[in-house]
Amino acid sequence: MHSSVKLGRLFGVEIGIHYSWLIVFALVTATLALGYFRQEFPGWSSQDRWVVAAAASLLLFASVLVHELTHSLVAIHRGMPVESITLFIFGGVSNIKKEAESAFDELIVSVVGPGSSVVLGFAFYGAAIVAAGISEQLFVLLQYMAAVNILLAVFNMIPGFPLDGGRVFRAIVWYITGNMRRATKIAGTVGQGVAYLFIFGGLYMVFRGNFIGGIWIMVIGWFLSNAADMSVRQVEFQERFRGIRVGEIMNSHPTTVSPSISLRHLVEEFVLQRNLRAVPVVEGDQLVGMITLSDIRHVPQEQWDMVTVGEVMSGAGQLKTILPEDDLSKAVQALAEEDLNQLPVVRGRSLVGMLTRSNLIRFLKIREELGLRA
Ligand SMILES: [Zn+2]
Repeated sequence: MHSSVKLGRLFGVEIGIHYSWLIVFALVTATLALGYFRQEFPGWSSQDRWVVAAAASLLLFASVLVHELTHSLVAIHRGMPVESITLFIFGGVSNIKKEAESAFDELIVSVVGPGSSVVLGFAFYGAAIVAAGISEQLFVLLQYMAAVNILLAVFNMIPGFPLDGGRVFRAIVWYITGNMRRATKIAGTVGQGVAYLFIFGGLYMVFRGNFIGGIWIMVIGWFLSNAADMSVRQVEFQERFRGIRVGEIMNSHPTTVSPSISLRHLVEEFVLQRNLRAVPVVEGDQLVGMITLSDIRHVPQEQWDMVTVGEVMSGAGQLKTILPEDDLSKAVQALAEEDLNQLPVVRGRSLVGMLTRSNLIRFLKIREELGLRA
């Protein structure tokens, strides 16, 4: 998920907030302070209301974070590395780098999130009982957080893939059928069904006069529908590349340049003549960097004779690379995640080939024309 602010790392997992979360913060704080608290507790000062409302928003944030961290830590424990957690308008996403290898792993990783929310809900409830004799404001805050966490667990257990409940459902179907791909399709279809229920339910509410509530439910339905669709397509897409090695389809004789040539030479002899947008830079057979059109554009044309490729290229240390033995699905994921057009294929520090988006497209086209299925 892009356009998010990074907060730091917890247990090695990067924590980020998507900008849409700021809307949630403002919305929750304002509706509590101006609506719920004002109606229910007219005796509270306006300062009390705003402080408790802001505290509730922050605790909501912490609750969602605990939920996602629980998913992430269990995933790491089961051998699935987690890159980051991003909190956004509908909750959080753990960016797990790998699909679960067994139905059991999937089940455990999915179910612990809502589990942690239930535990948190009861913990807040216990704290609320203790706080009851101390401060009304504190009691209300803690009781509210207890309800919010239970609600979080219930919402996430809706059986719409890719929500936790949908993942649990997929894990069960996967366990029964022994086929992850089919289970994903079934879970995705059920997820679509749940999404339509939300959309039509919301529409019904709008017609009955509950405009805001109805729209909100419809938006959730729309979000669920998109998410289900995307998850299913992602799994299918990765499945098409599974079991094929990068080395089988890469370009094993890529055009390379030396770091000592001038930009003018590079542009005239390589970029224009051979229609290249990115050229790996090598010394001997060692990859030392990569130069792209945007690196060249940063240098004014008058200086192209004086500036060398080595001075403006991205160094090898900054490049994402891949091994010839790597699975193609891994390469596809890397290209998509980093929004790259090409990946240098290396063994040790030597460049052995280049894998580009057009390699992949050609590969898919040929398979399709031959009528080959994954
Ligand atoms: Zn979850």
